[in-house]
Amino acid sequence: MVDGSLESLRARNRQAVVAAIQRRPGSSRAEIARRTGLSATTVSTLVAQLTQDGVVVEREPARAPGGGGRPSTGLGLSPEQGAVVGVHLGHGGTRVVLLTLDGTVRGETSTRSDVDHEPARSLRAVAADALGVVDGAGIGRDRLLGAGVAVSAPVLHAATLGSPPMLLDWGGIDVAAQLRDQLGSPVQLGNDATLGALAEWRLGAASGHDDLVYVMLSEGVGSGLVVGGRLHEGATGAAGEFGHVPVPGAGQICRCGNRGCLETVVGARALVADLAHSRGPNCTLDDLLRLADDGDAGTMRLLADAGRTIGGLLAALSVMLDPAVVVIGGDLSASGLAVETVSRHAHEALGRSLPPVSNRDVPVLPSALRGRSEALGAALLASDHAALRLVGATPGPA
Ligand SMILES: [Zn+2]
Repeated sequence: MVDGSLESLRARNRQAVVAAIQRRPGSSRAEIARRTGLSATTVSTLVAQLTQDGVVVEREPARAPGGGGRPSTGLGLSPEQGAVVGVHLGHGGTRVVLLTLDGTVRGETSTRSDVDHEPARSLRAVAADALGVVDGAGIGRDRLLGAGVAVSAPVLHAATLGSPPMLLDWGGIDVAAQLRDQLGSPVQLGNDATLGALAEWRLGAASGHDDLVYVMLSEGVGSGLVVGGRLHEGATGAAGEFGHVPVPGAGQICRCGNRGCLETVVGARALVADLAHSRGPNCTLDDLLRLADDGDAGTMRLLADAGRTIGGLLAALSVMLDPAVVVIGGDLSASGLAVETVSRHAHEALGRSLPPVSNRDVPVLPSALRGRSEALGAALLASDHAALRLVGATPGPA
């Protein structure tokens, strides 16, 4: 039994090294030793074996996808091992990104559609989009190692999908199983705002911070929390449902059944509806983003007000969690000027609302991932699982 124990210890150590490289591509051997608690000699031996197996490679200096993050050299997973797709099933449309295991974006596509009311059609469409992006990148479908799916619903442990009315017509649908059948590869689920936080933490504006709040500002509004270097899902996967915090004085009935939720005030649908008075009833989110990029005065006022509302509600969250940074993203961040305006005014309102005991300035930063945080986070989730399966299947050293 001693041999078996040694074997499983080696397997666990290999997995720890691969997980450390996956979480922070570009890490040096010394950094991996520090983060895993393994000795420098053990890490060097394992890295040499993983390199020989073609799982790990020395990286060239590279920037993280989306232009965020620092240039880095060091160790990375080999892109030759394969790729994963990240899918975002938002309320107002779908997005698919293709990521090789070294973290390079190799393709993407997005579609605006009524995801809430058309589950079967949406699942078929994203499966077709995903396979289309894989084919378009010249990556064989046999090298698609997995998929991650970001959904607008509470999710626990990458599998259990809650069924509150957040996704209106999706009750009883096994998203993971249906997509697994259509893609022919393993599928993990995550809450979209939580996965957005994962992407901002690993690749985006919150890179280097282990305590952060990410606010997703799309048709759905939510938040993702990283607390003490871990994603925080809560007891039931529903942590961070920021979009359903009531705004004092607001009166619309929300799709969750409550009245006056934040989402009914600053969600993309509410913002577009506010513009309809001056821009006509056919105004869309794309119109809003274009007007923001043009610096339109009415649109800027709308976004500033949204930022102030968000900032006021962020104060309570900041007092409770003491984040190093808040990041604003979601579909609104497809326009740099839109997300910068919201972030600036949220920062001012947050600063005014923080009690003296907090006594510090919490930065509120615009996402640099341009509306792709949720899909990229879903791809990172799939990539983490794929990387571990890869070493689980590789025989340990003799
Ligand atoms: Zn609500």
